Amino acid sequence: MEAQYPSCQKCNNGILIPLSDYGRQGSEIRYKAWVCTNPDCGFNIRIDNGELSFGHKLEKSNK
Ligand SMILES: [Zn+2]
Repeated sequence: MEAQYPSCQKCNNGILIPLSDYGRQGSEIRYKAWVCTNPDCGFNIRIDNGELSFGHKLEKSNK
């Protein structure tokens, strides 16, 4: 059984691995966030309440 994760589109060096979280009732929220394994990249994607958000570690947002 092989798990295949997508390669990071930002750095093409690391792979994106899924992180799971747990809800208030202890229910598992699978694949809530994906993070790049390359520490120099730090690319991450989160899913909050069905909305996708991208985290850019060293970039500031224009909000
Ligand atoms: Zn990356």
